[in-house]
Amino acid sequence: MQIRSVTVGGERLDYFFDVKRIKNINLRVRRDGSVYVSAGVGISPLRADAFVAEKAEWIARRRAEIAERSAVIDAVRFRDGATILFLGDGYVVHAMRGKRGVRLRKEEGIMEASLPDPDDGEALNSLLERWFRARAEEVLPVVFEHAEKETAGYFGASCGLVLRKMRARWGSCFARERKITLNTALVHAPVECIAYVCLHELTHLQCPRHDGQFYAVLTRFCPDCRALRRKLNALVAPYIGK
Ligand SMILES: [Zn+2]
Repeated sequence: MQIRSVTVGGERLDYFFDVKRIKNINLRVRRDGSVYVSAGVGISPLRADAFVAEKAEWIARRRAEIAERSAVIDAVRFRDGATILFLGDGYVVHAMRGKRGVRLRKEEGIMEASLPDPDDGEALNSLLERWFRARAEEVLPVVFEHAEKETAGYFGASCGLVLRKMRARWGSCFARERKITLNTALVHAPVECIAYVCLHELTHLQCPRHDGQFYAVLTRFCPDCRALRRKLNALVAPYIGK
């Protein structure tokens, strides 16, 4: 990779130049506004310069669009290159061009997010939001059911489970309706932390307040509850703006 520059209309335009095993020449404006050009072995750097100069107007437009959207992009949580937790394990997001989908490369800790335009930060964010929502719907009911089984009917018959994206809380319990709500953001947490939240909310079926009796009951089923709560808040609070 080398940095080259061309002068177009009196303005200097720097770009990154890389030789790859491709036939043609590709130009990409990254979200930070930098320009990346990759070219096949047979293409000379001078030819790349000419190509960049030709595209100068398009590059300027793309940079303006990026600047305009930067306010939106700042609010976006899941970005290319970010490390995101899934069940407590960190994955680095790799945005790439392709058929829309997400693939985990567990060994390498990489979350490949393919989409038609990998530079479209909003599209990337919504792709990952949807993916995490689907994983939450798979994982959370299983952990909840397991937690209910662990309590072996101590809190009565099984109760209804609702999954919802929430701010500022991990779960809630409507004891009278026997309904427990879990925050879908828990999908970022280690399984033992999700189990803690399930047991915490189940305990509310019997003890409405966080008093001594509440903790006496909760620690029967979850002796590490305080440590798990701390771990959960430390790791996953950023995902809900808590
Ligand atoms: Zn509580």
